[in-house]
Amino acid sequence: MKSYDIVVIGGGPAGLAAAAAAKRSGIDSILILERDKELGGILNQCIHNGFGLHTFKEELTGPEYARRFIEQVQELEIEYCLDTMVIDISHEKVVTAMNREEGLFEIQAKAVILAMGCRERSRGALNIPGYRPAGIYSAGTAQRLVNMEGFMPGREVVILGSGDIGLIMARRMTLEGAKVKVVAELMPYSGGLKRNIVQCLDDFGIPLKLSHTVVEIRGKERLTGITLAQVDGKGKPIPGTEEDYDCDTLLLSVGLIPENELSRGMGVDIEPVTSGPSVNESLETNIDGVFACGNVLHVHDLVDYVSEEAAVAGENAAKYVKGILPENSGKEIKLVPTDGVRYTVPKTIDPERMAEELTVRFRVGNVYKNCFVSVYFDDERVVHRKRPVVAPGEMENVKFKKTQLASYPDLKTITLKIEEA
Ligand SMILES: Cc1cc2nc3c(=O)[nH]c(=O)nc-3n(C[C@H](O)[C@H](O)[C@H](O)COP(=O)(O)OP(=O)(O)OC[C@H]3O[C@@H](n4cnc5c(N)ncnc54)[C@H](O)[C@@H]3O)c2cc1C
Repeated sequence: MKSYDIVVIGGGPAGLAAAAAAKRSGIDSILILERDKELGGILNQCIHNGFGLHTFKEELTGPEYARRFIEQVQELEIEYCLDTMVIDISHEKVVTAMNREEGLFEIQAKAVILAMGCRERSRGALNIPGYRPAGIYSAGTAQRLVNMEGFMPGREVVILGSGDIGLIMARRMTLEGAKVKVVAELMPYSGGLKRNIVQCLDDFGIPLKLSHTVVEIRGKERLTGITLAQVDGKGKPIPGTEEDYDCDTLLLSVGLIPENELSRGMGVDIEPVTSGPSVNESLETNIDGVFACGNVLHVHDLVDYVSEEAAVAGENAAKYVKGILPENSGKEIKLVPTDGVRYTVPKTIDPERMAEELTVRFRVGNVYKNCFVSVYFDDERVVHRKRPVVAPGEMENVKFKKTQLASYPDLKTITLKIEEA
């Protein structure tokens, strides 16, 4: 059996940045395993601009952003296998994978970095009544067809879900000559970034119907139309509010699911809110030497944050392999999300293991205007940051310094909450 110090599962932006950081931290024996025919992950199909504003202070397209990290991996001479699907990882970090050249093979890793990204929620999860005609795609599938394969999925389009991929595809389909009739969103707010609502819908006169869903799908062979209805506070359609739309294409942008089948299989604890692994300040899971980053950990809004987070996972995996990642000190501080904060990544902080500065990322569960993001060290409020608006579509963060936590030696919990002004 071959062995590597670090095996990275997934060659998207998270896997690339994690591998590069691990190499720069002094580990030579690294292997990236990627099931697709090229590195770069989902960014290869995101040909619009807006990537890299934070990291490179430039507006890059998805493939351009990915290229910068692929070049780093190549310059650092990090090994990678393409067209290689990982099908199992054991608790002892034996990675089972397969490809055409080698068939089924096993690799023993000292550390594993989980970077498998996420997939889109499908129609099956929505229970929309009606036939199952052609013309219904997830927005990401349509994105791949238009941007990479050169096919137009249809001409008259309705989009269900206003997450970023749905918004981006509303603009993309319009630019390719389709008529996007409406974007419908079940929630009373959009799940996407504000800048995408402005640039992808408002600029093209595409209506956004909040608190609406698709209640009927028409057409036997090919989609011929759908019916939208308004929903009440519990997401139930309100009788009498139905509106029919003729269309040949329905794009679904109804959520992303972190790809954690491999993680579950090896015994990694999964957080119910994020559907990603539960990690500590080192982005290490409950299994020693198994780290997670990127969309497999929690769905990110901007890829810049994916790269930042993945570098931390890579550095810590390198420390683990070198035996210099400190043992758990037993002084773990619990992070408690409450009052509007849905989750935090990480879930715990060991003040003795943490880096000089630690970024805690979180999302809120509703739109809050003129509010405060507050942080409590046990009962003492230490952060009270005024925000004109916070929304579920945008990831938030707070940063802690090691020196700051050191001055609270008995700290048990850090609570994050939204407080009304
Ligand atoms: C359809 C879609 C469109 C998106 N569009 C945008 C956008 O326009 N702008 C934006 O900022 N963000 C977008 N995102 C979010 C985007 O996913 C993240 O910003 C970023 O790409 C996440 O990086 P990642 O490396 O965690 O995941 P990914 O980019 O998804 O990379 C994960 C990689 O792991 C590989 N992999 C998974 N399982 C295995 C396995 N078992 N064996 C081997 N390899 C495996 C996959 O093939 C993939 O290459 C989009 C996401 C999706 C799903």
